[in-house]
Formats: sequence, structure tokens, C-alpha cells
Amino acid sequence: DKKIRIGIAGYGNLGRGVEYAVSRCEDMELSAVFTRRSPEELQVASGTQVYSFTEIESHVDNIDVMILCGGSKNDLPKQGPELAKFFNTIDSFDTHAKIPDYFEAVDASAKPNGKTAIISVGWDPGMFSINRLYGEAILPEGETYTFWGKGLSQGHSDALRRIEGVRNAVQYTIPVDEAVDRVRSGLQPQLTTREKHTRECFVVLEEGSNKDEVEQTIVTMPDYFADYDTTVHFIDEKQLKEDHSAMPHGGFVIRSGKTGDNNNQVMEFSLGLESNPEFTSSVLVAYARAAYRMNRAGDTGAKTVFDVAPGLLSIQSAKELRKHLL
Ligand code: NDP
Repeated sequence: DKKIRIGIAGYGNLGRGVEYAVSRCEDMELSAVFTRRSPEELQVASGTQVYSFTEIESHVDNIDVMILCGGSKNDLPKQGPELAKFFNTIDSFDTHAKIPDYFEAVDASAKPNGKTAIISVGWDPGMFSINRLYGEAILPEGETYTFWGKGLSQGHSDALRRIEGVRNAVQYTIPVDEAVDRVRSGLQPQLTTREKHTRECFVVLEEGSNKDEVEQTIVTMPDYFADYDTTVHFIDEKQLKEDHSAMPHGGFVIRSGKTGDNNNQVMEFSLGLESNPEFTSSVLVAYARAAYRMNRAGDTGAKTVFDVAPGLLSIQSAKELRKHLL
């Protein structure tokens, strides 16, 4: 059988993760990597050919699915709609509030060109979204809870680094055990922001800056830290590199509902990830298989994880799946 030919658009953490993930899929091969930086200077682990983004259109006949690995803030809003004109695409757009508009923009490109573009794939949005949907569909009377962590939050780490006097920093989001336990017990508690998660910061200061001032700026920062119990640790650059270079993440989606007279039913999906980008990339690659199949079946336009039948993600055929996994 012909292998599914994958392209990577943008080579950062997710780009590298997709490269690894494709190498573990027998039915796929990596055809090309595209970058906005100088292709000659980019070191690509697998030795795959690297091209400039400017010539991406000339590869339409060599790539079945393009996996977009750009950032959600600045790259995907432009790259998503542009590339869905030429390729079947997968992306991990994660700015939740803007997903409806992004969907429309990608659909307007994909649909008239006969392409299939699955947006906002990953774990949240992505696997967590599916589990929130399952919970609400199956237990219509109840509450849905999402806890994140323990994990490194890129957005909060960036916010720390922008503070005057801070040279470098990372931030971990940590679910509060007591809150998770109460939810798991079926009590359906009303939880405030502060009761659900705490935040822990590891900060490297610039020479001569004031610890107390920096700490005060952090714990009172609106939107990011003010609504949470936040602890701040001051460390040096060496410690930061040694102990905080990994990108762990994860969390839980819990649906707690009632059936019958008054029986508690608790559904839980949990992730414990040593590498957030490598896991996210593995999800992207499984959905690339689905996009390829949906496109061949004539199912075109923008899609989300809600529109993809689970069997399409698997390397096994529907018949094999019925036999082995049902
Ligand atoms: P990166 O910052 O590592 O990469 C984003 C882009 O930046 C790359 O495509 C690359 O484009 C460029 N880039 C990467 N490294 C460098 C560098 N050293 N110098 C200059 N440019 C560079 O982001 P991630 O891969 O970590 O994440 C991408 C997005 O994925 C995030 O914005 C996030 O929104 C989303 N995400 C979604 C998740 C989900 O569950 N849905 C989970 C995790 C992430 P180019 O090669 O063209 O220069």
C-alpha cells in the first residue's frame, strides 16, 4: 500500500514531535519540512529535506496531509487559511475563544478547493474536548470539571519573563488535590478559580533587582496570578536549566452526573505527560490519517475533533478494529 505522505509546516517543538511520531507509524512517511527561516541552516533530526515556506505551493502533488506546527497566536491565523487552499491540513489552534472564527476562515479556503482541514487538534483543545462532549452527552444532568497540570504553562512563563528585573522564569499550574477528590466523590461542588489550581513560579532575577518587588508584581498580576495562590521561588540560571527544561503537562476532565433516582456517575479522562509537545504531535499525526481518509471519501471543508469518527484515527481497518478492540 502507498504510504500517507506528510509535510511539516513550521519546525519548533511540535514540528520535532511530528517528526518522531511519523517515524512510529508504518503507514506514513515524512516528505518535507517547511520553514520561514533559512532552510540551509535548519537542523532536522531525521535528515528530511527542508524547504522555504515561499515554495510550499509547488509541493501540492507530493504531500497528502500538511501538519501545521506554527504558534496559535501569530502563525496559525494566517497559515491555517492560506495552506488549506492547497493541502489537507491538521493544526493545533488553541485560542479557545477564537476557534469559531478560525473555523470559518479555514472552511472558506478548504471547502471550495476540495481539501479537508481538521483544526484545534491536540489535548486541550482536542482529547479533552472529546471527553467533555462524551460526559455531557451521556450524563445530561451534571457538572463538567477540567483540571490542568501539574504542568508548565507557556503563557504564564512568558508573562513572568516580561516583568522588569526578571531574566528567566517558568510557571507550573498545579491542580488542588482536595478539589479533585471532592469532584471524584460525586459531590458536584461549586469551585472557585482559587480552589481549583495553584501556581508555582521559578524565577531567575537580573543582577541588582529587588526580590520583594518582583514577587509582589507577580502575585498581584491581574488575569494571570491575582486570582490564584501563587508561590515564587528564586533560583539561578543553572538550576533553571537543570530542573525546569522539560515540558510536562496533563490533567483531568471529570463529568459528574446523576442517573435514575439519585445515583452518582463519575466519568474521568486523565493525561500524565512528560512532554506536552511530543504528545500533542502524536495526536496531530493520528488525525492526519483521518484527514487523508475523509478527503478520499469526499468529506471536505473545515472539521474539528467532534466531526471525526474514532475508527478513522487507527492504522487498523474497521474490520480489524471490530475483531480486536471492540
Ligand atoms: P514553537 O514556538 O516551538 O514553534 C512555533 C513556530 O515558531 C515554529 O513553527 C517555527 O516556525 C518557529 N520557531 C520555532 N523555533 C524557533 C526558533 N528557535 N527561532 C525562530 N523561530 C522558531 O511552538 P510549539 O511547537 O511549542 O507550539 C506551537 C503551538 O501549538 C502553540 O502556539 C500552542 O498554541 C499549540 N499547542 C496546542 C496544544 C493543544 O493541546 N491543542 C498543546 C500544545 C501546544 P518556522 O520553522 O517557520 O520558523
